[in-house]
Amino acid sequence: MSTTDNKYPMWPAIVHAKCPRCRRGDMFTTPMYGFKSQKMNTTCPHCGLVFEREPGYFYVAMFVSYALFVAEMVTLAVAISVLSGSRNPWVYVSIIIAVGVALSPFNFRYSRVLLLHWLTPGLHYHPEMSEDIIKENSVK
Ligand SMILES: [Zn+2]
Repeated sequence: MSTTDNKYPMWPAIVHAKCPRCRRGDMFTTPMYGFKSQKMNTTCPHCGLVFEREPGYFYVAMFVSYALFVAEMVTLAVAISVLSGSRNPWVYVSIIIAVGVALSPFNFRYSRVLLLHWLTPGLHYHPEMSEDIIKENSVK
């Protein structure tokens, strides 16, 4: 349990939207569901990685977001069909719109997380960046 590789595993880092390079710093400054709109840190508060790899980089996240949305809605439509057996298209349309709106903050956040963790060439986990290199600044 104490090896550096296992200290900060990938899945918790993805679920908690941590930096892909050090898995310590938060990508977002605000909670997923809240009154304030979601804001990202420009750089990782732990290792200083610049999250927006180049200008307009997060436009690519829209494609990831779209793929997430389609996967969720297909799953949802199958679930409605299996659970209710309904043949009324308005049942599907209204539930899909409501759930789609409710999930949009989730998709916004995780499209960016997945883009940086899995779909960015040359960006990998660096275990040595997880170390408490900034101890003297007394950050927790
Ligand atoms: Zn980092």
